[in-house]
Amino acid sequence: MTAPDRAASLLTTVARYSERYVRDGRADSTRVEADRDRLRADFVRPLPRRGEEPHDVVSELVSRGEPGLLHSGAPTFLGFVMGGAYPVAVATEWLTSVWDQCGALYATSPVASVVEETVARWLIDLFGLPSGVSVGVTTGCATANLTGLAAARHAVLADAGWNVDDDGLIGAPVPRILVSKGCHVTVSRAIRLLGLAGQVYPVDVDEQGRMSLLAFIDRLESTTGPLIVCAQVGNVDSGSVDPLTDICRLTHERGGWVHVDAAFGMWAAAGPSVRRHVAGLAAADSWATDAHKWLNVPYDCGIALCAHPDAHRAALRTSAEYLTVATGGDRDPVDYSPDMSRRARSLVLWATLRHLGRDGVADLIDRCCRLARELASSLDDEPGITVVNDVVLNQVLVRFDAPDGDAAGHLSRIVDTVQRCGTGWASPTTWFGHPTLRLSVCNWQTDSADIDRCIAALVDAHREATSLHCSAAAPLEEFV
Ligand SMILES: *Cc1c(COP(=O)(O)O)cnc(C)c1O
Repeated sequence: MTAPDRAASLLTTVARYSERYVRDGRADSTRVEADRDRLRADFVRPLPRRGEEPHDVVSELVSRGEPGLLHSGAPTFLGFVMGGAYPVAVATEWLTSVWDQCGALYATSPVASVVEETVARWLIDLFGLPSGVSVGVTTGCATANLTGLAAARHAVLADAGWNVDDDGLIGAPVPRILVSKGCHVTVSRAIRLLGLAGQVYPVDVDEQGRMSLLAFIDRLESTTGPLIVCAQVGNVDSGSVDPLTDICRLTHERGGWVHVDAAFGMWAAAGPSVRRHVAGLAAADSWATDAHKWLNVPYDCGIALCAHPDAHRAALRTSAEYLTVATGGDRDPVDYSPDMSRRARSLVLWATLRHLGRDGVADLIDRCCRLARELASSLDDEPGITVVNDVVLNQVLVRFDAPDGDAAGHLSRIVDTVQRCGTGWASPTTWFGHPTLRLSVCNWQTDSADIDRCIAALVDAHREATSLHCSAAAPLEEFV
């Protein structure tokens, strides 16, 4: 066989396997078959001196790797905030690899560069943002947060007469960064990476995890210096949204910059039934979101948006002779996200949005939120189960009454049972000091029947954990 024949045969084999994986029940069960020891036994070994045939390598990966998959694309998977992958997105992701396009410059992939421009317009439109907003495609919301906050740092220090991107932070005016106590870890990390950790002022949150406006005003009035505010749209546990309109107005009155972490919550702007919850979104200065959660594209894909393109570009500026020669000065993706060579992610965004259209995105978002409300109201009707958040978007937080008062032990038994049974998957968090189950509805395939199966699995697991405790307790009492 020639080299192209061998390549074609390998891809056909993987295509056949993919067909089986998406068709058969395995992709539908959420149980992880192998544990860490088994996976280490199968994978952790020295690099062999002699290589293997590609077919053998791939089939080894399938047979040893499949038991270690977390089937987060299954419609009953409600863990973290993950979502699945539309077939059109998976197929385009594959094409992107087959084409092996480097999405850094127009010169390295003319099509990816121009597609990114059109996808940027579509996203601005879907999110209802001002038309001049600049857009970068990133690995995820973590890098998008870094991008937005780098632009913010550039702009507020420039307003104070300091060019941080030429002169660094030493000797710079000292900025203040107001951040909700409920902010995501990637916001804190971005602030650390930008050298601003010492300037953070945490702001208290209300019972939904939203920034408290009173606490915010208090921080605003008791601090001085160039101002950056990190607001949140879609708390990672409760899905709650900070009071954006007031935050943006008060910040702008003081010449500050509002960065919004909207990893999944941004998409609420595209859902007619929930759009009102993100009112004020368009008034911010930068936004970070991702497509691999709620838009259901495969990992990884994030999006950084900025209302001040000059600050965006200044913060991420690259300059080298060989680049200028290659680009001719027109738009290049490299100027809008921290990566240089990168996957041509814009192609997957283009295909998925083109497939869904505006109505398809609206339907996805509204459907997930409706299902989250159904899930919440059914669970809340069960004895011993309480939904503790206002279900404004797609997130549901659930507390279970523990028969012995050991809430953490009871919840961990419920989580174990659910994860083992393979219908549904969920994971715990601590919400205001209480062990709480967090459920997220964000998969394109999830329907009412899937939600009913999840409810049944959770109620059964709660009953089982309750009766386990009772039957285990009985013999002990005999000794008292
Ligand atoms: C998931 C998430 C992030 C991080 O996004 P990645 O895409 O995982 O990098 C940031 N903020 C919030 C609120 C999130 O839910």
